[in-house]
Amino acid sequence: KKKIAIMTSGGDSPGMNAAVRACVRMAIHMGCDAYCVYEGYEGLVRGGDYIRRMEWYDVRGWLSEGGTLIGTARCMAFFERAGRLTAAKNMILNGIDALIICGGDGSLTGADRFRSEWPSLLEELVATGEIKKEQVGQYAHLNIVGLVGSIDNDLSGTDATIGCYSALARICYAVDLIEATASSHSRAFVIEVMGRHCGWLALMAGVATGADFIFIPEKPREDNWRDEMCNIVRHHRKLGKRKTIVIIAEGALDREGNKITPDMVKDLLADKKGLALDTRITTLGHVQRGGTAVAYDRMLGTLQGVEAVKAVLEATPGTPTCFIAITENKITRKPLMQAVMDTKEVAKAIERQDFEMAMSLRDAEFSE
Ligand code: ADP
Repeated sequence: KKKIAIMTSGGDSPGMNAAVRACVRMAIHMGCDAYCVYEGYEGLVRGGDYIRRMEWYDVRGWLSEGGTLIGTARCMAFFERAGRLTAAKNMILNGIDALIICGGDGSLTGADRFRSEWPSLLEELVATGEIKKEQVGQYAHLNIVGLVGSIDNDLSGTDATIGCYSALARICYAVDLIEATASSHSRAFVIEVMGRHCGWLALMAGVATGADFIFIPEKPREDNWRDEMCNIVRHHRKLGKRKTIVIIAEGALDREGNKITPDMVKDLLADKKGLALDTRITTLGHVQRGGTAVAYDRMLGTLQGVEAVKAVLEATPGTPTCFIAITENKITRKPLMQAVMDTKEVAKAIERQDFEMAMSLRDAEFSE
């Protein structure tokens, strides 16, 4: 009987529980034993009670829960070979030979490393007498499949990551709340959203809320960004708009690679010699991660969890580690490391569509 373990790792995201639930139940449905590894790689390294057998009913009610119920962690030990060696030992002690990991590109890169090292880890465990040579046969290959759990939508090769639409919905909701008070007092708000390297959340929130201006890492602002922003805001104000919303991703940059901070934007909007707007900063912070998953993330976690179990059962040695993507509404399997490499090169947020146009539509509501 095959034993499949599932874990969540890195930053938590809404929909991870849906993925875990789907993996557990699909594994059982396929006649396998299902396990959960608690606390990400930390649990794999610690072993013992961190690795638990799961029954069908253990995940009841998980679909609508936020965060990840099996815990997640950042694990320094897993960066070292010694940590991965202990992790391999714990898997074998529990009889686990397949692993599904739901996490960001860091977690998935770690997973790929673990898989490619697996034969040499086994060799070392045999050489040091930690496991018996006879045991190796059954575990000769480690099947690993990745699920992308991230609120940032920061992996290339998939249209959406598990959690990104929940975070986006939460941001839009927060902006709506702020807009009411902004309009009332005719104020400006600089709203900082998550996204150190990927501006998808800021960009989409900008489109979805009709923000006046956005800053994202993929589009470093030209030297004249101050004039550019002030001119747009002035124009909107002239058209009668009583609120100003600027959305800024954590990783906002200018052309020289200098950080653009909410304080810089605020000072500019508030400048007495310029727009002189009553300006506040709101940092949305971890509110963006919290709460239950929106329908899309539940659906994505469930469909991708089902596919991940299938992929694990069909994986063959020698093929590259795969992850489960969604492209043009189809759940697909893709080579993991290719996507990780592409992510580093491609500015995903502005890769596909004419967002400049979408952003400029916000003027239209006042220009007629
Ligand atoms: P995310 O998965 O959200 O990108 P991190 O980058 O923090 O989050 O990665 C989560 C964990 O994955 C790390 O704490 C570490 O245990 C493991 N990990 C990340 N990158 C590697 C790597 N290159 N080698 C081994 N383990 C890694």
